[in-house]
Amino acid sequence: MLKNKTALVTGSTSGIGLGIAKALARQGANIVMNGFGDVEGPKAELEALGVQVLYHGADMSKPADIEDMMQQAARSFGRVDVLVNNAGIQHVAPVHNFPVERWDAVIAINLTSAFHTSRLALPAMREANWGRIINVASVHGLVGSADKSAYVAAKHGIVGLTKVTALENATTGVTCNAICPGWVLTPLVQKQVDAKAAALGLSNEEATRLLLGEKEPSMQFTTPEELGELAVFFCSPAANNVRGVAWNMDGGWTAQ
Ligand code: NAD
Repeated sequence: MLKNKTALVTGSTSGIGLGIAKALARQGANIVMNGFGDVEGPKAELEALGVQVLYHGADMSKPADIEDMMQQAARSFGRVDVLVNNAGIQHVAPVHNFPVERWDAVIAINLTSAFHTSRLALPAMREANWGRIINVASVHGLVGSADKSAYVAAKHGIVGLTKVTALENATTGVTCNAICPGWVLTPLVQKQVDAKAAALGLSNEEATRLLLGEKEPSMQFTTPEELGELAVFFCSPAANNVRGVAWNMDGGWTAQ
């Protein structure tokens, strides 16, 4: 379905981003990978799916890095057809103790970076009259949780950005939608499980059950593979008129 198309997935060295990149690569899309940590392992996994992979190490808190990544993607592949804004970080603290520098970092990486990639990808998408922008928001784009002010603000913000981008392009072949996962067991969430285990003197299993039990009625994690298939659906012709939605995959979290 995506042969000869290019998908750029920010934060695709691990977790949800890697899951989405793999699902898009299985549909034939060449991949522009981004993110920190181990690059060679995930890059090899993507190349094994028979597509071309370009890695760019842009720091998503730096607009100049983002611009360089978008230019390099266009130089290598012509244009970005599918843009997945996924890179994200978390910081947990009450507002009155929230470090200012962490607030700025969460907003820059989880929200502002999507504005920059979108503004740079949209002209070529509009010219081609085809494009898909998929913003990885969160249930925290729909509801709040204590101690996550910057994250919840950024995720509500990206749901708003999704709606406006969808509206501005509504008469074109360019769509923009958001994905709102509940708990997904990635390094970002394992850190929260570890913190709970340490604070309450629990085992990893007990802390995991507590984490799920607080929010997620299914008592199951959503997987990067499931989220990847939702991204594939957004890229399919069946989703041509799906515009500006914030689609949760959250085990019932926001149904409560
Ligand atoms: P993760 O920590 O496994 O992956 C985050 C990715 O972003 C990594 O590739 C990391 O290197 C990259 N990244 C971090 N800071 C970056 C920066 N400054 N520049 C470039 N890349 C950077 O986390 P994840 O759980 O896969 O999270 C991916 C997205 O999904 C995030 O936006 C997160 O908010 C969202 N999300 C996660 C969950 C969950 O339960 N894990 C739930 C809802 C939404």
